[in-house]
Amino acid sequence: METSCRICSGPVKASIDLGDQPRGNAFPKSGELTDEFFYRLLVGMCDSCAMVQLMADIPQEVRYHDQYPYRASNSSVHSAHFTGVARRLMATELTGHDPFIVEIGCNDGVMLATIADSGVRHLGVEPSQEVAALARSKGIRILSRFFDEETASDIRAEHGPADAIFGANVIAHISHLDSVLKGVRTLLGPDGVFVFEEPYLGAVVEQTAFDLLYDEHSFVFSVSSIHAAARLFGLELVDAEPLAIHGGSMRYTLAQRGARPPAPAVADLLATERAQRLDQHATLEEFARRAERVRDDLTTLLRELRADGKRVAGYGAPAKITTVTNYCGIGTDLIPYVCDSTPAKQDRVVAGSHIPVVPPSVFLEDRPDYAVLFAWNHAEEIMAKESGFTGRWIVYVPEVRII
Ligand SMILES: [Zn+2]
Repeated sequence: METSCRICSGPVKASIDLGDQPRGNAFPKSGELTDEFFYRLLVGMCDSCAMVQLMADIPQEVRYHDQYPYRASNSSVHSAHFTGVARRLMATELTGHDPFIVEIGCNDGVMLATIADSGVRHLGVEPSQEVAALARSKGIRILSRFFDEETASDIRAEHGPADAIFGANVIAHISHLDSVLKGVRTLLGPDGVFVFEEPYLGAVVEQTAFDLLYDEHSFVFSVSSIHAAARLFGLELVDAEPLAIHGGSMRYTLAQRGARPPAPAVADLLATERAQRLDQHATLEEFARRAERVRDDLTTLLRELRADGKRVAGYGAPAKITTVTNYCGIGTDLIPYVCDSTPAKQDRVVAGSHIPVVPPSVFLEDRPDYAVLFAWNHAEEIMAKESGFTGRWIVYVPEVRII
């Protein structure tokens, strides 16, 4: 299968096929399983700009619904990270007279709360009504819309140019990224910066983190592809900084073209990516073969444990669990339930695989022999919290292991 690149219209060939998948964050109620939405999860790379992208076009309205359960503030590690981001932006970019910052997809306000508390002029753009309401309750100014060229023009007309635009774990979600970049160019002041953090292709490939591929991740960014995309829309990549969060992310800083000299890190990372062949189809094809091996190892292990009469549970129900369980064909026969502390996900099931999501108290009482760690990017935080767990952990990134 071949499609056109969402950024530059170049040819995109499918290199990774994770089969028919429902929406990663659907988490339907067990009584509402008759009409589940499925699409073919194919991922490819653009021949021209090297942008790695989802090949199916899933309507935005299908993807973001009012029950969107992800709450950025639920993880203490994430909360601390975003408080740090807010402080750094205030110290470096929001230092002029009456500065203005816009956050694209501000979720429950985990970053903007610190900015709002300091009295800095801000606007969170958040289309999901439920999380937007949580952000408003923290005193954050919210515009409930999708960010695109038109929204950016309207914001500029009402508030003036932005000194900083921020986005975390949201920019790679937006399939109309071309319109977002046009909007950024419109809204950003002459010396403003667009800073965004997203899961990094280099880390995804290195860890064989195939479960980071799901409907909401329209793209997996690399320094090479962001460098190319910025140029196409009159912007320039002026800095890039690797981050440990979410299992390996990159923080990109874009400015108006020619406004700021690029930091040495940009050229260094571009050279590293060329050496790692991150801009080559063959790299994705090799990744797909490693994902198949993880699938075979994980299902073999779970079947063996079931045959031995061992009790296995799942721990953590991030969107990733939807990709893994549907790709591997894991249902309640192999993992009877998964626990998750997010109330909005409890009493629901994982889409497609229909594994029930239960509160952590069930896990504590049940004391299973093994727990598959689906929220593997929070492994240290979870293992410290569950230090009383007497069973063993199963992880599958970068390969299947029992800890
Ligand atoms: Zn392209």
